[in-house]
Amino acid sequence: MSFDFADRVEQVEPSATLAISNKASELEAEGVDVVDLSVGEPDFPTPENIVSAGQEAMAAGHTGYTPSNGIPELREAIASKLRDDGIDAESGEVIVTPGGKQALFETFQTLIDDGDEVVLLDPAWVSYEAMAKLSGGSLNRVDLAPYDFQLEPALDDLGAAVSDDTELLVVNSPSNPTGAVYSDAALEGVRDLAVEHDVTVISDEIYQQITYGVEPTSLATLDGMGDRTVTINGFSKAYSMTGWRLGYLHAPESLVSQAGKLHSHSVSCAVNFVQHAGLEALENTDEDVLEMRDAFLERRDMLSDLFAEHGVDVPVGDGAFYMMLPVDEDDQAWCSGAIEDAHVATVPGSAFGSPGYARISYAASEERLREAVDRLAEHGYF
Ligand code: PMP
Repeated sequence: MSFDFADRVEQVEPSATLAISNKASELEAEGVDVVDLSVGEPDFPTPENIVSAGQEAMAAGHTGYTPSNGIPELREAIASKLRDDGIDAESGEVIVTPGGKQALFETFQTLIDDGDEVVLLDPAWVSYEAMAKLSGGSLNRVDLAPYDFQLEPALDDLGAAVSDDTELLVVNSPSNPTGAVYSDAALEGVRDLAVEHDVTVISDEIYQQITYGVEPTSLATLDGMGDRTVTINGFSKAYSMTGWRLGYLHAPESLVSQAGKLHSHSVSCAVNFVQHAGLEALENTDEDVLEMRDAFLERRDMLSDLFAEHGVDVPVGDGAFYMMLPVDEDDQAWCSGAIEDAHVATVPGSAFGSPGYARISYAASEERLREAVDRLAEHGYF
């Protein structure tokens, strides 16, 4: 039989990142050694204290459903962390989700009606577009590529895009895929537009703890933003917990009570013992977070020096573990070639709305990063 698939699902493209990693797996199955710089996850093990806390919670019987929005201790610890960041947060304004992705998905579904305008800053993480489309939203995109991926110089362009018709604006700082950390002046510009046009803003701060020499400001701390910001964060990146699936959203209680319905009717709750591990992560894992961050910084600097030696000037951001390598105009062909000839996996910038670049994840050892650059040079990819 042929299925009559829903339009809202059919219009979404499969993840470009996944297409590349499938290609990498195919080559690896043939025995090829692929340097995979396409993945968006830290290459460190989850810190031991967190693993133990998860195991202990499981052994202690924390294996049933939890309250839908999360265990009270974790919601309170998250609210307390957000208060440390300067956000006026209460535990009742937090939903604990299986990954930050679910928190984002619930936010889009809760706010966007058919035809509502969603503004994205390009290059933008691949799933925002899919989530906007799945909720029926229409996209309006502002390109930061001409401004070395910074938001401040693009504020006029953003001002031209945002109007009273805009429902939602998504800000992701530090950014995937550029690593850019937006300045306070840029965030204040966002605030002014959001207040003027009564726009809700998603502030995706999942890379907040991975920054180099800058203190990122949480958007919800700015005057006028507390009651219109949905702050998204999670444990995947800071604590190297991608497979545990743990994240959260913080928003005004009215939004939490609407999103909570979606949450309880879909995932029910995040995994019980994983929530206990998350509590340990928040309370006792500062050292490991700093060590991972320092390692990423060394890799970032090493990699951008190596690119510079080959005459390629890469705009380097102050956070996350990505950079956008300028490549041929046809970035898809460049990336396919790079994986097939040089066996180096990267993601085409066009997947993020910025053709002409390849996204490099430097969550890989220094040795593998050197190997990648050598191979790309050897096969004429610079
Ligand atoms: N936001 C951004 C910008 C991301 O890069 C990711 C992960 N790739 C997520 C959210 C979601 O992460 P998770 O679901 O693992 O918490």
